[in-house]
Amino acid sequence: MPGLEDLYREIILDHYRNPRNRGELASPPARRVEGFNPLCGDEIVVFLDIDGDTVTDVKIGGQGCSISQSSASMMSAAVKGKSVAEARGLIHTFKSLMSIHEARLEPSQTEPGSAASDTNTGPSGEVEVDLKRLGDLAALQGVVKFPVRIKCATLSWNTLAQGLDEEEAG
Ligand code: ZN
Repeated sequence: MPGLEDLYREIILDHYRNPRNRGELASPPARRVEGFNPLCGDEIVVFLDIDGDTVTDVKIGGQGCSISQSSASMMSAAVKGKSVAEARGLIHTFKSLMSIHEARLEPSQTEPGSAASDTNTGPSGEVEVDLKRLGDLAALQGVVKFPVRIKCATLSWNTLAQGLDEEEAG
């Protein structure tokens, strides 16, 4: 029986081989933001069409490892059509996922089959990540076992955040 990690690997490879929202938007009017991860050589270009308070379109360019490119694909699918506030919420949620997983890997906390749980509350109750809300993005949680790859996974999200910040600043 394929385990959760195999399923996650399939989701990551699917986004890598069939990236969503790949391409460019005319800039301007779209906002164009570039991100670079020198540790791995990943490049991401994010094009954002923001109309009022809505991210109406997202396109992704660039090149790099499977983690960086699949994360960018998932990011584009997750935020397209969402409000700017929702996009910021997803950035926060995803970055939380990337920072808490090590704690969740404590042997005493981890039971086989419990990974489908849609919430995680840390011992002090401060961390809560809704994996269902994250959809395919939950597949990237295994990345946290490989700290050098975290920057690959978060690159497109940091680039998106920079674009939203620039948009807000006018
Ligand atoms: Zn990478």
